[in-house]
Amino acid sequence: MGNLERIDGIARGSMLPADELAQLLGSFTDEDLEYASTLARAVSERVFGKTVYIRGIVEFTNYCKNNCIYCGIRRDNRNACRYRLSPEEILTCCREGYAGGFRTFVLQGGEDPWYNDERMCGIVSAIRAAFPDCAITLSLGERSYESYRLLKQAGADRYLLRHETADPAHYALLHPAEQTFQNRMDCLNMLRELGYQVGCGCMVGSPYQTPLHLAKDLIFMTQFRPHMIGLGPFIPHHDTPFRDEPAGTVRQSLMMLALCRLMLPEVLLPATTALGTLDPIGRERGILAGANVIMPNLSPVSVREKYMLYDNKLFSGDDPETSRKSIEQRVASIGYRVVMGRGDHPAFTAEARKGN
Ligand code: SAH
Repeated sequence: MGNLERIDGIARGSMLPADELAQLLGSFTDEDLEYASTLARAVSERVFGKTVYIRGIVEFTNYCKNNCIYCGIRRDNRNACRYRLSPEEILTCCREGYAGGFRTFVLQGGEDPWYNDERMCGIVSAIRAAFPDCAITLSLGERSYESYRLLKQAGADRYLLRHETADPAHYALLHPAEQTFQNRMDCLNMLRELGYQVGCGCMVGSPYQTPLHLAKDLIFMTQFRPHMIGLGPFIPHHDTPFRDEPAGTVRQSLMMLALCRLMLPEVLLPATTALGTLDPIGRERGILAGANVIMPNLSPVSVREKYMLYDNKLFSGDDPETSRKSIEQRVASIGYRVVMGRGDHPAFTAEARKGN
């Protein structure tokens, strides 16, 4: 089977076996990528129009009890300058974001025990009360079923928890022994059961990754059927054991985005900051490969440089309104338009309509 045939097969909705997907991911040419992107773009245009959703991300703590080997805010990085935002500071970020036009707030952080259920639920319910027309997305890592349940009850709508890699042996090479693949999967399943819109996803080009691993990621995602997928290149951080590992590539990330779009037409798919870090127009290229979400930063400017997951992370000092306008210009330059509003997954939008 040739690569064009493989891409056609995926676009028609037939699932290729892992070895065929791995062949494609290990051998595609620039023409193959262009072909997959064109098909993926047509799919997102059919489902969403030529639109891009924006989400404001508040990186509210870089304390972390975990030790993911790739991550710049891992516990063992003594050089990280740690910070945490108070509930009031987090609310201020949302208020400024709201004034700047944002209608989804993503609260992301390291796994910081200071934000226990009581404090975290307090934060979520305060945001829920202040901004009833906004979606609240959490990205707080692995917690208990009860914790996820309380957070949902407090008003959270969505949860991002990348699976990082769908291969247990590869997972064990990227994480210390106490962080297990099984627990990550259990958490993803709990989140889905609790009724969150759930996001999983992986890094592209992480250490030890082969095309077969990426093929398994795609197969996992078609089976799990997430509402959102966070996917971007691995980029080394100088204070981690992976400091000398090569970064993933933009083209491999674009191919993965295109295949995600073809396999899951309705998925909410960000063109990630990591893609924008490796290529000044990486996020625009991501949209042209089927992505339909961009997540600008709403954190206070003074902490933005401290949430350093990897080296040279894309950084701007823009306030929410300025960053929205700059994203609007960028997407307009490729013929797309930013839409305001919560931007729920189509399945949830339909459900909401039924409920009204
Ligand atoms: N504590 C939360 C948020 C983690 S940071 C959680 O566990 O989900 C969000 C994502 O950044 C991670 O899931 C990981 O995929 C990505 N990331 C971390 N280090 C990275 C690196 N060096 N290069 C690229 N992406 C990285």
